[in-house]
Amino acid sequence: MSIAVLEDLKGKCCVITGGAGVIGSSLVECLAKAGMKVAILDLNADLAVKKAQEFASSTGCSVIGVGANVLEKASLAHAKKTVNDRLGAIDILINAAGGNSPKATTAAESIEDKDLDHLEATFFGLEMESFRKVFDLNFIGTLLPTMVFARDMIDRKQGVILNISSMNSYRPLTRIPAYSAAKASINNFTAWLAVHLAPQHIRVNALAPGFFLTDQNRFLMYDQATGNLSARGDKIIAATPMKRFGVPEELHGALLYLVSDMSKFVTGIVVPVDGGFSSYSGV
Ligand code: NAD
Repeated sequence: MSIAVLEDLKGKCCVITGGAGVIGSSLVECLAKAGMKVAILDLNADLAVKKAQEFASSTGCSVIGVGANVLEKASLAHAKKTVNDRLGAIDILINAAGGNSPKATTAAESIEDKDLDHLEATFFGLEMESFRKVFDLNFIGTLLPTMVFARDMIDRKQGVILNISSMNSYRPLTRIPAYSAAKASINNFTAWLAVHLAPQHIRVNALAPGFFLTDQNRFLMYDQATGNLSARGDKIIAATPMKRFGVPEELHGALLYLVSDMSKFVTGIVVPVDGGFSSYSGV
């Protein structure tokens, strides 16, 4: 058997939503280094274009930045036309747009007797608008791009979809119920879609990153006043057997495995990359 690892990726076209973000742009760099054509789709069009220019010049590959909103089908259809015109048909879709918001986060972890006079800091104070925004960004923001971009895969009876899940999907973290519910739905949807698309030779899997320090979670991990780890940040490190946050480059191995022919007979799974967090009972 010859081992031509990752050769199949060369020249393939990948769309990555949220590709201008911390984790997304690290994945973009990895895919461009593997010789792929990459379209960074992001709400922040200027940043998408800027990152695309940087990666195109550092890797010599075709990387383009396209503004799009993963919650608007028309915006995605418009972006798809741009990608098809500039890079060709889409082989791989990575759904990386997502995140949490302080407004969909409860101040209290649980309701103790002392909290009964301040229920606005608990589940009962959550604003529906913020809750829905976070849920939709993470779930509908994966569903809609898949509807739009996977059409190219149906036409050619081949393709790979990679969703981005989270540790919250297995067991919810305290304080962030919208994000947790949405990421749990990503795991369920990944399995459902894998079955639905298997006869068309389209594989669907997900990556579940552990804790990586980014703009969306820094406010939860560090005490802004002191710059020290917050109580929550401390708990996370204590619950991560490798005793540190991850760095985005540590997602690259699992990324390349799941998008390439190395995982040709693998579909419907969620791969944790988490320093052991999901395996540790805390005892
Ligand atoms: P990030 O905030 O750095 O990146 C998210 C990107 O999505 C941003 O560039 C943002 O502009 C874009 N975006 C937001 N709303 C959009 C919309 N409506 N349409 C298009 N683009 C939109 O966050 P990140 O930490 O790099 O997260 C990337 C993914 O990884 C998310 O799905 C997140 O939930 C997931 N994740 C992150 C961690 C972590 O520790 N950082 C852990 C597990 C999962």
